[in-house]
Amino acid sequence: MARRKASPGADQPVPPQGADRAFDLLVVGGGMVGAAFALACAGKGLAIGLVEARPPQRDWPKGEFDLRVSALGRASQRMLERLGAWGRIAALGASPYRRMHVWDGVGGAAITFDSADLGEPDLGHIVENRAIQLALWERLEQAPDLTLISPASIADLERGPQGSRLVLGDGRILEGRLLVAADGRDSLIRELAGIPTQGWDYDQQAIVANVRPEQWHQETAWQRFLPTGPLALLPLADGRCSIVWSATEGRAEELLALDDHDFSVALTEASEDRLGRIRVDGHRAAVSLRLQHAERYVEPGLALIGDAAHAIHPLAGQGVNLGFLDAAELAAALDLARVRRRDIASLWILRRYERARRGENLAMLMAMDAFKRAFGSQLPPLVAARGLGLALTDRMQPLKRLFMGRALGLGEGLPPLARP
Ligand SMILES: Cc1cc2nc3c(=O)[nH]c(=O)nc-3n(C[C@H](O)[C@H](O)[C@H](O)COP(=O)(O)OP(=O)(O)OC[C@H]3O[C@@H](n4cnc5c(N)ncnc54)[C@H](O)[C@@H]3O)c2cc1C
Repeated sequence: MARRKASPGADQPVPPQGADRAFDLLVVGGGMVGAAFALACAGKGLAIGLVEARPPQRDWPKGEFDLRVSALGRASQRMLERLGAWGRIAALGASPYRRMHVWDGVGGAAITFDSADLGEPDLGHIVENRAIQLALWERLEQAPDLTLISPASIADLERGPQGSRLVLGDGRILEGRLLVAADGRDSLIRELAGIPTQGWDYDQQAIVANVRPEQWHQETAWQRFLPTGPLALLPLADGRCSIVWSATEGRAEELLALDDHDFSVALTEASEDRLGRIRVDGHRAAVSLRLQHAERYVEPGLALIGDAAHAIHPLAGQGVNLGFLDAAELAAALDLARVRRRDIASLWILRRYERARRGENLAMLMAMDAFKRAFGSQLPPLVAARGLGLALTDRMQPLKRLFMGRALGLGEGLPPLARP
């Protein structure tokens, strides 16, 4: 077996001898994507182990809204419905948004997308990440043949023709025929497996906060493109908004250093008073932004899904939506292995997943990167060109419907779990 060790930490692993548990499928990372994937594979005759560093948060004060939220499209919603988690997510709080208004902070051109034009009730929902994870975990806890191993850290990975051996921080040894890495952007499994990534830092930070606007948000997601980065105001059911304000490092540092009053003033100004005066409600946090793509998603006995495979600029709220489609596509490939009596760890099976997802994800990564660059420029010809593009698209209903349909997940080529 090829052996790779995690950098030495506080935990002192004991040397691997016999495995404590052996699984068909070993998933590392029980965040939104890993949990959805494990659930999609459960109850189909596979012994599944899910290793997660931190168990999900179980409860929080009513009315409190976490800073980490996701805008979920229809394909993700359908998938969560089929996994039996959507009802619980809706009960925990899912705020629909019916329109999206995007405008250029320099040229002023704008475009509005309205769900009514598609005959749809909404364009998606804003949901707290912790609510999605908890709803999935509650289902996982009832799933047959599934073992949750959490909290747990990873000390060592060995890989060989028969599968992978994970040594946990407490010395336990787990074996898996197929190892799936869903351990996020800084995936340790990807690193231990020696899979390189390509990409670049955006030299931007995304500031997240909850805010209270003076005027009603009209169940509209507002996005203004500023030369320093996009500002998004996502509507919450109680009238507040969750903001994602991406800004160059220097600008982000300035904004983070402001007190609440001055930050609120800067935010009101940056949103051009579209919702009146805006007041920040609670604390702020910031995440540095990076474009990152794994050079390959699969190797014999190993697959990467979600942010472990790709990290995208949050400007169009696509990251976890792409990750859910990875999960659905890999689960479909494993279903095929069962039907055809093929090895779930074989490249023949795993490449189906990679073929279905890698090109799609790359196209989305590059499209968002192009958007970010085009709107980051103040060069007059570029400002004029994007203004013309926005204005023309806004008037072309069929094109707008096409964009909205794709963003909503009404298009073709979706994996079975996400299909209408
Ligand atoms: C500011 C911001 C706004 C965003 N908004 C949106 C949006 O509106 N819509 C959208 O679709 N996406 C959005 N995203 C992207 C989205 O948050 C990510 O794509 C998503 O969280 C990825 O999910 P994941 O499960 O792949 O990874 P993660 O959420 O990173 O989960 C990884 C899990 O693995 C666990 N883990 C990590 N290492 C180990 C280990 N060694 N051992 C065991 N467990 C481990 C972690 O504890 C965690 O639970 C946004 C991102 C940012 C930064």
